[in-house]
Amino acid sequence: MCSPDYFKKIFRTVRDWPKPGINFRDITTLFHDPVAFSRAIDVFAEESDKRPFDIVAAVDARGFTIGGALAYRLRKPFVLVRKKGKLPFKTISESYQLEYGTAAVEIHVDACKPGDRVLIVDDLIATGGTLLAAAKLFQQLGGEVVGVAALIDLVELGGSKKLRDAGLNVFTLCEFT
Ligand code: IMP
Repeated sequence: MCSPDYFKKIFRTVRDWPKPGINFRDITTLFHDPVAFSRAIDVFAEESDKRPFDIVAAVDARGFTIGGALAYRLRKPFVLVRKKGKLPFKTISESYQLEYGTAAVEIHVDACKPGDRVLIVDDLIATGGTLLAAAKLFQQLGGEVVGVAALIDLVELGGSKKLRDAGLNVFTLCEFT
């Protein structure tokens, strides 16, 4: 198992992007390093072994890179949680608050069946609003969200706490303060 520090060194921090005062955690550097990327997926695979699940779901767009690799590694069905208006078939939608305004995520109505156990992955947890909305979508369809996982937890923004307070199991590879 790799330590949080191993992964923290891999991610790049871009200062003042997308606006002054923001330290953006850039995960593309993980994908440039095939050993680190496969280790990250291995850690998620080991962790997800602790709670059996049926479906890997991932959040638009960087979550797809992680969820797709994990679903392939574990030979599990893979579901896309997309931003509003991107999915072609019948959808259900869940809105959440942004700093300015609202956003919404969607899944297809046949993305899971009642009783399916779902693991949802994304690249990063900030306020937790995105993953919480994603979890509500699967719960609306009668799915059981067994956990949410991300590469990075921006712990001071309180998202992982909010997700735990909502009864979700949260797993991240590392934290930035
Ligand atoms: P939340 O909904 O506030 O938890 O925000 C999480 C979403 O915002 C994720 O889908 C991330 O892709 C994106 N995000 C917010 N901050 C960063 C960052 O510093 N690096 C990469 N993605 C970020």
